[in-house]
Amino acid sequence: MSPQIPINGPREVPTSVVVPAGVLETKAAAIEGLPCKAFTPHDADPSGYLSAREDCWNKSVKDWPSVIAMPSTKEEVITCVKLAAGKKVAVLSGGHSPMCMPNGAFLISLRKMNGVVVDPERMVVTAEGGAKIADVDNALKPHNFAAPLGTHPDTGIGGLTLGGGIGWLTPRVGLAIDNLVSAEVVLADGTLVTASAESEPELYWALRGGGGNFGLVVRFTYGLGLGVGLGLAKLVGQGGEHDVRARRG
Ligand SMILES: Cc1cc2nc3c(=O)[nH]c(=O)nc-3n(C[C@H](O)[C@H](O)[C@H](O)COP(=O)(O)OP(=O)(O)OC[C@H]3O[C@@H](n4cnc5c(N)ncnc54)[C@H](O)[C@@H]3O)c2cc1C
Repeated sequence: MSPQIPINGPREVPTSVVVPAGVLETKAAAIEGLPCKAFTPHDADPSGYLSAREDCWNKSVKDWPSVIAMPSTKEEVITCVKLAAGKKVAVLSGGHSPMCMPNGAFLISLRKMNGVVVDPERMVVTAEGGAKIADVDNALKPHNFAAPLGTHPDTGIGGLTLGGGIGWLTPRVGLAIDNLVSAEVVLADGTLVTASAESEPELYWALRGGGGNFGLVVRFTYGLGLGVGLGLAKLVGQGGEHDVRARRG
């Protein structure tokens, strides 16, 4: 039997990849005023750019964004969005999508925004827009909770949730978006809003399945007990088998 060759990530920082001449012939993007680390293919030392470009899961990504900005707070995201006005903007969460880094794009990479806070009293978990499923699972595990996200621990919650989100718990509690309580969103003009059933309800509706078309989500808050009839479930997956608890809906 031939050895199994992985066709996808996680990607490794390249040692041999160089910025192609065609990319270097394009006009260098201006990155003055950006509040965070930002890289361009024209940097004197392109190693930061090349590493940031590899920090996505999907190995079929071959394109060359003109800027990779790496904010670590929502305030930095707001400034990035304002400075990117009028440009071709892309957002990266877990980098599972082959379209996550288009050629020439002003890429806002959320790879530094992966914090997760669990509130066991309110039975909610809030995760930053660049968190991966494993980040959420690991934060919930000590509390014996599980959020209904996807099946692959390396998937970003950003693209997954905005696309619906099917996972182990879906048959019991629905999609990720059925359990999304609220989202903090930076709109195209840099305004920060909270979308929920009570606040910005139309945006809340649009985010739940509308992909990255309505703004950049810096925080997702999921309910941990919105499902019906789930007293105790077994989650069999990434970290082995463990009990998860959820309140009856
Ligand atoms: C191996 C594998 C396993 C998968 N398993 C599942 C699964 O079990 N269940 C399931 O439902 N799906 C699954 N998917 C599909 C996956 O959910 C989508 O590919 C999703 O887009 C990946 O999200 P990401 O954040 O990792 O991707 P990214 O490439 O980072 O993001 C994809 C797009 O989402 C948008 N986006 C991401 N984050 C944000 C944000 N914070 N704000 C605004 N826009 C944003 C952007 O438009 C971006 O281009 C899987 C995919 C793969 C490759």
